[in-house]
Amino acid sequence: MTSGNNYFDDMRIKPEVVDPPKVDDLMEISENVNEHAQHTPKPNLTVASSVRELLECPVCLSAMYPPIHQCSNGHTICSVCKPRVHNRCPTCRHELGNIRCLALEKVAASLELPCKYHTLGCSGIYPYYCKLKHESQCTFRPYNCPYAGSECTVVGDIPFLVNHLKDDHKVDMHNGSTFNHRYVKSNPHEVENATWMLTVFSCFGQYFCLHFEAFQLGMAPVYIAFLRFMGDDTEAKNYSYSLEVGANGRKMIWQGVPRSIRDGHRKVRDSYDGLVIQRNMALFFSGGDRKELKLRVTGRIWKEQ
Ligand SMILES: [Zn+2]
Ligand SMILES: [Zn+2]
Ligand SMILES: [Zn+2]
Ligand SMILES: [Zn+2]
Repeated sequence: MTSGNNYFDDMRIKPEVVDPPKVDDLMEISENVNEHAQHTPKPNLTVASSVRELLECPVCLSAMYPPIHQCSNGHTICSVCKPRVHNRCPTCRHELGNIRCLALEKVAASLELPCKYHTLGCSGIYPYYCKLKHESQCTFRPYNCPYAGSECTVVGDIPFLVNHLKDDHKVDMHNGSTFNHRYVKSNPHEVENATWMLTVFSCFGQYFCLHFEAFQLGMAPVYIAFLRFMGDDTEAKNYSYSLEVGANGRKMIWQGVPRSIRDGHRKVRDSYDGLVIQRNMALFFSGGDRKELKLRVTGRIWKEQ
């Protein structure tokens, strides 16, 4: 569905969203344990996988990172789970105490493992203690669905997500780098929950998400429009965009750099990185009797040289 004159887009109201947990939130791992890793001969694969099993926490089944703890019988547990088991070893029920398992920590340092996104194209092999950090920034890691307004947990690469937005969220898709949108809402006083709107633009061989949202800023309802780039931040920086809203001879203009969809829509919104319109101003721009929100937002995306 491409159209340049689809001026009236119904706004929909959906419950407040909670952003899905992001890979970026993973803890940073110190790398100093690892200075000799590059001299280690390639580990035998069977040995490596049995060591990997040893490094799996028996409680949360995640890979353990220093400090790795053990009970007096030698059962290991990760540092996240240790405070949760009330000082009892989950395997033998003995008191856990405060014993580090340095031997296992050192064995881990000799491991080299493929990035967990190798099936998505990453060919990197990383020392155990660098792997997490790499994976939290790996350019092959999947993106979260950029759709706001539902707790969508779909992840994938950009072409996959574009189809997902089109097919599953019924998002409007537009070709071209300029746009002229009208946001209409009959009762602008209901802003308690997020009122939002997403349109996807395709230009320069890339995809951009135009968000329009209403939210409470302290006591005051405000509107924000901003653009997100469907790709990584380093590429997003190659583009700029402008947004304009106005009426009656007044207008507000915003010029910005699209944010990567790696940044959640709420994070962008809460940093006001977009065209922010106070409600009074929005109603003034809407004209009429202030009973209806009728904002015409025009904009343009361009590539920086
Ligand atoms: Zn654990
Ligand atoms: Zn034990
Ligand atoms: Zn990777
Ligand atoms: Zn989705």
